[in-house]
Amino acid sequence: MSQSIKVFKFGGASLKDSAAIKHIGEILQRYQEEKLMIIVSATGKTTNALEKVVNAYFYQEGDAFAALDTVRKNHFQILDDLFEPNAEVYAAINDFFTEIEWVIEDEVQDSYDYIYDQIVSIGEMVSSKIVVAYLNKIGIKTSWLDVRDVILTDNTFREAKINWAQTTKNATAVVPALFEKNQFVVSQGFVGGTSENFTTTLGREGSDFSAAIFSFCLDVESMSIWKDVPGILTADPKLFKNVMKVDRLSYKEAIEMTYYGAKVIHPKTIKPLQNKNIGLYVKSFVEPEGSGTFIGSDILVDYPPVIVVEKEQVLLHIAARDFSFIAEHHLSFLFGLFATHRIKINMMQNNAISFAVCVTNKPKRINAIMDALKDEFRITKDEHLELITVRHYEKGMLRNLREGKIVMLEGKTRQTIQLVLKDIPLVERIDKVVV
Ligand code: ASP
Ligand code: MG
Repeated sequence: MSQSIKVFKFGGASLKDSAAIKHIGEILQRYQEEKLMIIVSATGKTTNALEKVVNAYFYQEGDAFAALDTVRKNHFQILDDLFEPNAEVYAAINDFFTEIEWVIEDEVQDSYDYIYDQIVSIGEMVSSKIVVAYLNKIGIKTSWLDVRDVILTDNTFREAKINWAQTTKNATAVVPALFEKNQFVVSQGFVGGTSENFTTTLGREGSDFSAAIFSFCLDVESMSIWKDVPGILTADPKLFKNVMKVDRLSYKEAIEMTYYGAKVIHPKTIKPLQNKNIGLYVKSFVEPEGSGTFIGSDILVDYPPVIVVEKEQVLLHIAARDFSFIAEHHLSFLFGLFATHRIKINMMQNNAISFAVCVTNKPKRINAIMDALKDEFRITKDEHLELITVRHYEKGMLRNLREGKIVMLEGKTRQTIQLVLKDIPLVERIDKVVV
């Protein structure tokens, strides 16, 4: 049998500047005997920067050309650090930026989401070109693959859905031939293409998912996500003390964690891997020798408490104006509305006459929902809340989490507790101390 393929995914933080890209080169030197399918994100914060270009162009807020120039300069800085002035890669990168220029020179004619995908996808196009050029320069023979020739999607721009059957056909037709030539193939995360050759994107932070799509379609040996943390941690070390690495996780536990908002892996990543029983490693590019976290099937361990914090939450209390019960017909209408406006419900609770939902603050979409409801329902909205989810919680820890906060909503199952919290305004805290 031919040698099996492994998939590696490198995110923006691991590609943030020329030193970071050199470091990836060092990591990859050690794998030269392997067949690697390497999926990359845009460099550093490029996707955010390109979103600014889109907004400046579409909403005419600010200078789209200046915003684009910032992104271009960042990339040319990386090129200047890594390559000789006459290297071929300059022309390739320049072409991608010129494509965006052509778009923003014209009047706005298409939908926001369509334009977004045509512009923002360039981030992954240029980062992958740079990585391929650099690897070849240091003697690691690598092919570049345009992901739009493999990942076929529908035309739900910004959240495109995968056509799995056709994507599998494409992957098996295209990728093995590339591995005949070189041991490494580099392609873009986050991006796909429609049957009419329009570029789509798969949702923010979607490169993990792209790597899982390749893993599934090529039935690979394993997938590794290289991150700036030692593995999956029990909480965000910026927010909590005594954080530990979890060595092994089951697919189910990983799905639960990502569902509740753990940002280490994109939520759509696990299912394709689970379906083919492909192991997932989350490893540190800072300490590549570290053991990381392994995610696979049938892992039964006593999990420590795992805390996931989601900021910028909004709590909506929705009650029928005619005082009728929030019964099935209301609920199906409400769920439908949230689905149409692509708002994920992070937590909910219903009483006789009101329905409370906690969602991440996306002001435009939330206002649209409130608008659609206002005739029939009374709605109150609380903003700037925090949703804390604890898997495998221990009793003692809950008091600490509530400390200094007002609990707006609480939900509990055997494994999981969720709290929607609001900071107690300073004045009230002082009151408490005096009493
Ligand atoms: N570059 C894209 C983003 O920042 C995709 C990714 O990083 O996974 O959302
Ligand atoms: Mg990113």
